[in-house]
Amino acid sequence: MDAGRIRKNWHWIAAIVLVLVFFARMVDIRPGGDPRPVGGTAEIEALAERDDLNVIFVLIDTLRADRLGSWGYERDTSPTIDKLAATGIRFARHLAQSSWTKCSMASLWASLYPARTGVTRFDHAVSEEATLPAEIFKAAGYQTTAIYRNGWVDANFGFSQGFDVYHNPRPRPLLPSERRDNPTLRVDGTDMGAIDASASFLRAYGDQKFFLYVHLMDVHEYVYDEQSAIFGDTYSDIYDQAILRLDRILDMLIRAVWDDPELASRTVIVIASDHGEGFGERGLEGHARTVYPEVTEVPFVIALPFRLEQGIAIDSRTQNIDVWPTLLDLLGLPPLVPSDGRSLEPEILAASRGEAYAVPESIGFAHLDQTWGRRGEPPQPQIAATYGDYRLVVTNEPTPREELFDRRGDEFETKDVIDLHPALAAELREHWARYMESKPPWSEGAPSIEIDEMKLNQLRALGYSLP
Ligand SMILES: [Zn+2]
Repeated sequence: MDAGRIRKNWHWIAAIVLVLVFFARMVDIRPGGDPRPVGGTAEIEALAERDDLNVIFVLIDTLRADRLGSWGYERDTSPTIDKLAATGIRFARHLAQSSWTKCSMASLWASLYPARTGVTRFDHAVSEEATLPAEIFKAAGYQTTAIYRNGWVDANFGFSQGFDVYHNPRPRPLLPSERRDNPTLRVDGTDMGAIDASASFLRAYGDQKFFLYVHLMDVHEYVYDEQSAIFGDTYSDIYDQAILRLDRILDMLIRAVWDDPELASRTVIVIASDHGEGFGERGLEGHARTVYPEVTEVPFVIALPFRLEQGIAIDSRTQNIDVWPTLLDLLGLPPLVPSDGRSLEPEILAASRGEAYAVPESIGFAHLDQTWGRRGEPPQPQIAATYGDYRLVVTNEPTPREELFDRRGDEFETKDVIDLHPALAAELREHWARYMESKPPWSEGAPSIEIDEMKLNQLRALGYSLP
């Protein structure tokens, strides 16, 4: 086009440029970009009316919230999760119901506290009488598939209810550039096997309505690689390196969705965890032994099928028992009944409108039977009752011992302030007593199952001492 014609048509050219700039802002279609359209309150409310949505639920085993950038960690461990949080919904103070996978996952799926699922010991299974989210998805016409790598959520523990396919992928060996540095763990394979299986699933079922549960284990096993070996040599450093690598392969899973803008615009991606990990905060390493914050404060992020120009952060106390009430409510699916959790949708909508939402401060519980792996020994539950900034921890050994923590000015909750707040401690003790009396809503509670020696060995390989 010569200069004269450009001068003559300048207003058309300007209009086309403006339209292109507008669409480039709306939809980031560059390779590696975020192809989701922009959405807001109206789009969140409209989710319940849509009939084209998929859900990918990514459970990152053993992921502590305070080790993620979006939770304020000083190390850049989690750019992918941070990006989802910055354009989605992040729950900043989120409690897992236990520090041991099976107990925690039973509560997460059933939306019931551990005393109510009854799943607190090594041989307990989720009752067939429970309704689990996959059953609701299946009844609503979704293809339901699980790809998992943790033996504690095997089908024989009752976790496959509602899934068309419940699949533990064949172990894929470590690459020469990869290392596994948790000394007590010997689980074969890495999460790349689960990521590959998920990508295959998306190729086969991406055009159908689906619910996909992906349970990843490489953070639990401290798997890292040359690219992520940048923080140091302590177990705590290596754990951070494992998060950094996991975050990178999580990006591959998200790419498998987002590389197809149409699929991206109808897929909800959820990030959650079952418990954290201790690094000597009170002389203990690992998890499945206590209910202190290092092992029970976990992330929860919802990435919507559109991106919010400003991500939403919910600061009130939320819990893993709220995860499915919230997601089912957002999706317009029937609720879990009975449920100890609550839908967080009202808070999400208020936050997206920039309005304050007065949440009545509620009590949240975490529960670990400290003798869960010892056959024939009586239960010794340790319970945390959280209220606002406070956490009462009651330990049975064999007479109850109590500690009270105030996270204000005590980030890791290591200073016992029970003598300063006797009235609050007494009130929380009453809630604890009521919690201890609560029972499963089903006739038989949680059935005990026979676990054969081979299976026990597989579970021992996860680093737990079992009978
Ligand atoms: Zn776990």
